[in-house]
Formats: sequence, structure tokens, C-alpha cells
Amino acid sequence: ANEIIFYCRPGFEADLSAELVEKVAALGLAGYPIANMNSGYVRFVQLSSGPANELHRSLPLAALVFARQSLLAFPPLESLPRDDRLTPIIQQVIDSGWSFEALWQETPDTNEGKALTGLSKALQKPLESLLRKRGALRRKAGGRRLHLFWSAGDEVQIAMSFPGNRSESSGGVQRLRFPREAPSRSTLKLEEAWHTFIDREEWAERLHGGMQAADLGAAPGGWTYQLVRKGMFVYAIDNGPMDKTLMATGQVEHLREDGFVWEPPYRLDWLVCDIVDKPMRVIDMVERWLARRWCREAVFNLKLPMKQRWQEVERCLMRLEKTLANANVRAHMQCKQLYHDREEVTVHVRLLE
Ligand code: SAM
Repeated sequence: ANEIIFYCRPGFEADLSAELVEKVAALGLAGYPIANMNSGYVRFVQLSSGPANELHRSLPLAALVFARQSLLAFPPLESLPRDDRLTPIIQQVIDSGWSFEALWQETPDTNEGKALTGLSKALQKPLESLLRKRGALRRKAGGRRLHLFWSAGDEVQIAMSFPGNRSESSGGVQRLRFPREAPSRSTLKLEEAWHTFIDREEWAERLHGGMQAADLGAAPGGWTYQLVRKGMFVYAIDNGPMDKTLMATGQVEHLREDGFVWEPPYRLDWLVCDIVDKPMRVIDMVERWLARRWCREAVFNLKLPMKQRWQEVERCLMRLEKTLANANVRAHMQCKQLYHDREEVTVHVRLLE
């Protein structure tokens, strides 16, 4: 297996490719991306012929902005015979010598991809039973999972994932139920950010009642709703109107002020910001908050209406990192394009002391 498949939001293949090329070059490794616009995935092929395990390990999924899933993969199987797709698939899996604990079939997050789910469903049982018979699917296999990634009815790529460096959700997509009482769809962005950036075991300690938060660009209140639901008190900064039910909780103070200049009356636990503005303007504001330790943790979005989105994200993250280092502020930083993010990415920063 000398390549890696990365899933991404359709339309962001060029951004993911640019990110991979740069990060792989920085590692001193060599390879090249193969991607089609709007396909929802990027293949990254290693130049040397050996297995790409080291390359795969050196690019942890959590540190990639535009990737949803990361799989060590074999070259695609193309022109599968319609009357017998199974034989070539089973053969490639057996030839690989690997064994697995589970079989996941996935398709790109596109309309074409969705149309292939019927096919993959029909193949699941027969594939599992054949793989079990041949010993490739068993109860214990180091947590490895076998992925069949279908890009067309006669084209599939065989791949694998390892615990600790993969998304545990099908297609790399964190599915969340929209809470009926939430004032806007955006609410899922903050919820997904917490799922993505905060270990489940730490939720009770880092997201709890009695905490104080600021939500900049809060209206109508989707993000504030998430904070309130955790029992927090929220300063909601926005000129626009806030949801009435949310205000009736008594946990929200709505201030019609400019989020870029407003200062909290005392130290808060959380800063969140979903203002649509130039990314660097948001960075300037967040830097001020963090350098002065006005909050312990922050989640904010960077809107990316421009062409070279990876370059813009990198410029912002490097600036933030440099400013915090100069201010002697130690922090842990992560950035991801979440499933619920459209032309934007979400950044999480946590101060370390
Ligand atoms: N997160 C919100 C939710 O979940 O309901 C949606 C936020 S919406 C994408 C952006 C908001 O930022 C708008 O309500 C807008 O009024 C507000 N906004 C824009 N510029 C602002 C500024 N300088 N200060 C405060 N709010 C601002």
C-alpha cells in the first residue's frame, strides 16, 4: 500500500492537495496528490515504491485542516466486472497479507457517491463472509479496519485505518442531531467543534455549569444555545436580535456592541466567535484575548471566500502561533474544516497554564 486516501468536503480538493504537498515536503518525504475537482477525496501517492505507513503516521489526521479521513491505500481497482465484483476485491485483500476486525464500505460525500450506497449495502454480507472464510476478517487484528472506498460502480479502492489516526465516523462525517429548540443551523458547528477538539472524558471538566463565556457575533443564538445548554453564563455580543426563548433562560446578557472591540469585565472561561469578516481581522482580535488571558479556551471560525484557502489558513495560524510565542503564552492549537463548516474552517485554542 503505497498511497493514502484522504476524504474532504467536495470542492476543497485543491486546498487539501496544497496542504498535503506542503506538509509532506516539510517532512522531507516525496509524493504527489491526485485529485478531481468536486470528487470529495484526494489520493496522495508516495514516490518511493515501499509501503506508505511512515508517511501515513507522519501526517496525523488531527493535524490536517482539510482532511476528514485518512487511510493507507492500495492502487484503485478499475473496470470491475459487473457480474463478479467480489473476486478481484477478495484477491487484493488476501494478497496484501493484512487482516482486519471490521469492514467499512464508504463513498464520497457527493450525489454520485450517495447513489453507490445501494450497491455497497448489497455487497456487505457476501464480502464479510468470504473475508472471514479466508482469515482476513477476524475478532482480533490490532484494531485495524478494512475500508472499501467506492468512487464508481466498477471502481473501488482498498484501504485500511489504524486506531488513533482515523475518524471513527463513517465517511469521516460527524453526524449530529439538530436540536429542535436551537435558534439556527449554525448551532451544530460549535457542537461538532467540541466533539472534534475535546476528548469526551474531559467534557465534564471543560464544559460545565457556572462557566462564563463570550459569544461574538452571537445572533440569533445558535452557538449561545450550546453554551447555555451546558449551564454557562454568556455575554452575547451582536447588533442583531437574539432568540427570545434563549434570553428567557436568564443565562444570557445581550450587548449590542462591536465584537472586535468589546472587552470582557473579568476573565472568562470560553470565547467563541462566528463573525463573518476577514480572517486576519478575527486573528487580531483572538490574539488580543489570548495574550491578555481573557479566556482559557476559544473556538472561532475563519471564513474563506478566497481562492487560495490553504495559504490563507496557514498565514493566519502562523501569525497566531508567532504572536502567542512572543507573548510567552503557551497554547494548544487545532484547526479543522468541520462537516458542518462550508467555506470556512474552525480553530480551537486552549491555554496551557
Ligand atoms: N453563531 C450564530 C448562530 O449560531 O446563530 C450565527 C452568527 S452569524 C454567521 C454572524 C453574526 O455576526 C451576525 O449576526 C452579525 O450581526 C454579527 N456581526 C457581524 N459583525 C459583527 C461585529 N463587528 N461585532 C459583533 N457582531 C457582528
